[in-house]
Amino acid sequence: MDLNMSVEEQQFRDELRDWLKANVPPDWETKREEPLEARFDYLKAWQRKLFKGGWAGVSWPKQYGGRGASLMEQVIFWQEMALAGAPPMANAIGLSLVGPTIIAFGSDEQKKRYLSKILSADEIWCQGFSEPNAGSDLASLQASAKLEGDFYVINGQKTWISYGWAADWCEVVVRTDPNAVPKHKGLTVLLLDMKTPGVDVRPLRQMTGESEFNEIFFQDVRVPVANVVGQVNQGWDVALGTLMHERGTMGAGLQILYRRNMDRLIALSHEVKRNGGTAAEDPLVRQNLAQCYAEIEIMRLNQMRAFSRLSATGVPGPEGSIQKIFWSELNQRVQQIAQELLGPYGQLASNSPYTVDKGMWSYGYLRSRGNTIEAGTSEVQRNIIGHFVLGLPRSY
Ligand SMILES: Cc1cc2nc3c(=O)[nH]c(=O)nc-3n(C[C@H](O)[C@H](O)[C@H](O)COP(=O)(O)OP(=O)(O)OC[C@H]3O[C@@H](n4cnc5c(N)ncnc54)[C@H](O)[C@@H]3O)c2cc1C
Repeated sequence: MDLNMSVEEQQFRDELRDWLKANVPPDWETKREEPLEARFDYLKAWQRKLFKGGWAGVSWPKQYGGRGASLMEQVIFWQEMALAGAPPMANAIGLSLVGPTIIAFGSDEQKKRYLSKILSADEIWCQGFSEPNAGSDLASLQASAKLEGDFYVINGQKTWISYGWAADWCEVVVRTDPNAVPKHKGLTVLLLDMKTPGVDVRPLRQMTGESEFNEIFFQDVRVPVANVVGQVNQGWDVALGTLMHERGTMGAGLQILYRRNMDRLIALSHEVKRNGGTAAEDPLVRQNLAQCYAEIEIMRLNQMRAFSRLSATGVPGPEGSIQKIFWSELNQRVQQIAQELLGPYGQLASNSPYTVDKGMWSYGYLRSRGNTIEAGTSEVQRNIIGHFVLGLPRSY
């Protein structure tokens, strides 16, 4: 693959860089310290601004509000956003998972109805897949939907649903044929309006103190038949498409964010005192920092390889699992090193004595524990790589 940018890609990057320079809100660094719920309207306004500027949905079709640009330009977009220190967009699940799923599997009516409102953040989305007894083994999910006239009637429960509290809509997977064998054959994906009577969203408190995700209960929730994505009882293929995007493309700007964190860690190592000098002079600290730096570079190159394949095929492949393992476990290693540098101060969310820290490592360490669970656990990703990439026998 060619790692150099084409002339068009360079022009795209320069135009975007200028726009970001003029438009990234200057108060983001202080705003980011507020809890997610408190800063959500701010993130929505930022996404709307990007949409009006023509930058939301870079690779989405123009007729649905996107820019119609290439996938590589989409990757450049995420990288430039990270480089500029721009706020994330509010509709993370809509942009990264639901939109690409509707583009790949949705009807023309669904594309017209939903896509541009995802881009403008007028409608926030969540992903309703996991249940109390169906996470890694998603195919065993129990939430059911029975056909009654022109509606599917949903009963059951979902859990760990990120942004459930903010969502206007949910991409939900339900069982429409309880007798299907094997069990993944009887699933269907529906687009659910979260304001429908019978939808009950309850917060789940995380160890970071936030309630980023929720439980959602369904009691006789009526969803029009027109909201089926793809074919009835063939929702497994649609859901897998969503999961492949989640594992393969969601981390596009991550390596730049990690590099920024790395710069902060290095600055911290110069500030923290150790054995009569600074931590930066300690050979073990230096080894750890150099190892992380090398791993972030490996992550960048692996991502370029995955995006190059995606540009050629249009579909993310099982290699996305390599990315998922790598970014999640790398972040945990980086957060661990920060804690080792800080010692007891690493637990402080504010009032840290270190000027370059501002308590970010306390939140980062706690939040990173979920990285190896969300979007599929590390064990499950290794099973996928073993079977689909290496051709080894299935583990179960
Ligand atoms: C921060 C966060 C955000 C999330 N957001 C969402 C969301 O928006 N929408 C959504 O639907 N879900 C979401 N989830 C749920 C997530 O997808 C599930 O937690 C995940 O798929 C694991 O499922 P589980 O929790 O049921 O664990 P289980 O599947 O019960 O797994 C328990 C343990 O067993 C291991 N295990 C299971 N099967 C195997 C196997 N075959 N081989 C080896 N080991 C195995 C797992 O690796 C794990 O260590 C989120 C989770 C987190 C942490």
